[in-house]
Amino acid sequence: MTDATLIVAMETHDVRFPTSRYLDGSDAMNPDPDYSAAYVVLRCAGGAEGHGFAFTIGRGNDVQTAAIRTLERFVVGRRPDDLGALYKEMAHDSQLRWLGPEKGVMHMAISAVVNALWDLKAKLEGKPLWRLLGEMEPEEIVSLVDFRYLSDALTPGEALDILRRAEPGRAERIARLTADGYPAYTTSPGWLGYDDDKLRRLCKEAIDDGFTQIKLKVGADLEDDRRRLRIAREVCGPGFRIAIDANQRWDVGSAISWVNALREFDPYWVEEPTSPDDVLGHATIARALAPIKVATGEHVQNRVVFKQMLQAGSLSVVQLDAARVGGVNENIAILLLAAKFGVPVCPHAGGVGLCELVQHLAMFDYVAVSGSTDDRIIEYVGHLHEHFVDPVVIRNGHYQAPAAPGFSAALLPEALAEYAFPGGPAWNGDGSTT
Ligand SMILES: [Mg+2]
Repeated sequence: MTDATLIVAMETHDVRFPTSRYLDGSDAMNPDPDYSAAYVVLRCAGGAEGHGFAFTIGRGNDVQTAAIRTLERFVVGRRPDDLGALYKEMAHDSQLRWLGPEKGVMHMAISAVVNALWDLKAKLEGKPLWRLLGEMEPEEIVSLVDFRYLSDALTPGEALDILRRAEPGRAERIARLTADGYPAYTTSPGWLGYDDDKLRRLCKEAIDDGFTQIKLKVGADLEDDRRRLRIAREVCGPGFRIAIDANQRWDVGSAISWVNALREFDPYWVEEPTSPDDVLGHATIARALAPIKVATGEHVQNRVVFKQMLQAGSLSVVQLDAARVGGVNENIAILLLAAKFGVPVCPHAGGVGLCELVQHLAMFDYVAVSGSTDDRIIEYVGHLHEHFVDPVVIRNGHYQAPAAPGFSAALLPEALAEYAFPGGPAWNGDGSTT
């Protein structure tokens, strides 16, 4: 790469959207989120930019932004060429690693920077990220993964076999994605703060828009859940997939009894029934609730916990998150683990910009890893897309394959200014919303 691709500056922004005013995103554990991005821009000498962010729900976004700043020394003065090596350099830095290791605020900061590097690399190569990854040689993909702590479940050789097996159909799947897109489900009807009329109207709209699955938030009050699920089932009809999401609300025993009390409404999966760290608890819940599936992942902190969940039979749906684990690289490890264990990946996307990012990972999975969309579906939420340069496009219940180069991560400059915290106009210039 030339001097033009030398990264000469890192810029960060604390961006917050006052979504709590409308109860968008409200659930049993997060009643009033302000969807936020700890946002990073990498600038190259030649003018190219890479954008990335960590998603938070408001307070603490300043802490997340400060964590991103500590990574400036790893990227300024470098080029986005060997992203396997650069990711491992950040994740293995012994002093920063002490703050995790490989979990929490510091790991999410690495994710933001890694994803910004991938946005930059994809732009420099003139391809949308899903296609850049989907056209890489299997050996190169394997070189992006950190196999430390994985080899008892997945070796580099096995990863290579998975990728080679998927190679023959790649071109056909790229063509199919470009024509038809990738299936989506919508969480928009199901936020806990919405009233029954809004729930009914949004369920109907989801069907009219071509979605084949919706998700409802549960876990605050059992009678409310029964009433809301009855309404959703009435509107959607039998056989339509309705997932439920407790956002970590329950202990193991109450997860089992609560979901059993909702069984008559035929929930397709129960999401985050308990702590995302509780590998064995999830396994107990999965055994007790089968054939209802257990789904989790949006708060699973790294590939090691995913590995254990797959080994223990704790989940039947892997919900990776584009901005939580160590970015694109660690998510490739998680996609390969899921393929090894034969578990479908249905990514998490409830947040600002997560739909934009995660579509690329699911499409890469289809093209080059699992080779399948069977029982695979990407979450869709309808908020805040208008603030992005290259927002997701949903048609007939499907994400349309992004065509613009990059990772679809960039917010519009006017959004960065309007929602800057605490000084932006959306926050009255002083962090208040009233
Ligand atoms: Mg969820």
